Amino acid sequence: MLSIKSFSLKITQDKRAKNNIFFSINGFLLKERDYMIGIFGGSGFYNLLDEVEIIEKETPFGPPSSPIMLGRLGKKEVAFIARHGAHHEFPPHMIPYKANLYAFREIGVTRVIAPTAVGSLKKKIEPGHFVISDQFVNFANREDTFFDEVPVTHISSADPYCPETRDVVIKAAKKLNLPLHESGTVVVVNGPRFVTRAESNFYKSNGWDIINMTQYPEVVLAREMEMCYTNISLVTDYDAGVKDDSSVKAVDVKDVMINFQKNTEKLKRLILDCIPNIPDNRGCACGSSLENARFG
Ligand SMILES: [Zn+2]
Repeated sequence: MLSIKSFSLKITQDKRAKNNIFFSINGFLLKERDYMIGIFGGSGFYNLLDEVEIIEKETPFGPPSSPIMLGRLGKKEVAFIARHGAHHEFPPHMIPYKANLYAFREIGVTRVIAPTAVGSLKKKIEPGHFVISDQFVNFANREDTFFDEVPVTHISSADPYCPETRDVVIKAAKKLNLPLHESGTVVVVNGPRFVTRAESNFYKSNGWDIINMTQYPEVVLAREMEMCYTNISLVTDYDAGVKDDSSVKAVDVKDVMINFQKNTEKLKRLILDCIPNIPDNRGCACGSSLENARFG
C-alpha cells in the first residue's frame, strides 16, 4: 500500500554558525535511525521495494531532484532520489546537488550509493564494464561546499570514496561475475556537452580512466556531511573515440541510453546484492570527516 506523506522541517536560525544547523537538527531528530542507505536511482530500483513511502522535502537549498522514496529491503531501510528528476528533467549542471545530499542526511542516511553512467578513456575499459571509482579529478565548475562561513572548514578529500562500502560493492560484483575494474580515476566535466577530441586526449594522456558529469560535487558534499559515498560506474561509451582506431565513433546520447538500458538489470542486481552486506555500524572514518577539519 502506497502511503504519501508531505512535510517540511522548520529550521531554527543558529546565528553562531548556520552551517552547523543540519548537524544539530539531525542529532536531535535522527538518533534512532541514523543508519539509512541512500541511493541515487530511478523507478527501476525502488519499484522492487515493499511499502514505499514518498516524502516531499524542502531544504535550505530548495527541493531535491525528486521526492524521496523510502522503503525496506530485508532489514535495511533505503531511500532513493532520482538524481536527474522523476522525469529526467535536470541536466547534470542543473541538478540540485546540495539539496539532494542535505535531504538524504536529514532523513538519516549515512551511506550513499551513487551509480553513474561514464565514458571510457581507456580501450581496456569497455562499454558494459563496471568501475568502482576511487579517485576523481574535477573540471566541473559548481557550488561544492556547505561551508561558506565560519567555522572555516577544510575536509580531506585525499581518499574521497568510502573504503568500507567500496569493498562490499567489489565483493558483490565479483560474486555476480560482472566485468569489473576495482578502482579508477574519474574525470568530472561540467557538461551538458560532451568533450572535444583534444580534451579527451588530454584526459587520456594523464592516465585517467573514465569520464562523467555528476560524481562531482556529490562525492565531496557527502563527505562534508560525514556520509560514506560509494560510486558504481557503468561504462556506456568510449567518450570522444579511441585514438588510432577510427572505427570507434564519438559518443552520443543514443549510445549512452542503449548501453545503460542494456546493463540496468545488472546494475540493479549489484546494488540489491550489496545492501544486506553493508554494516549498520560504520568501521570507516567517513563519519568523523569534520574532526580536525576546522579552524577555531
Ligand atoms: Zn565510509
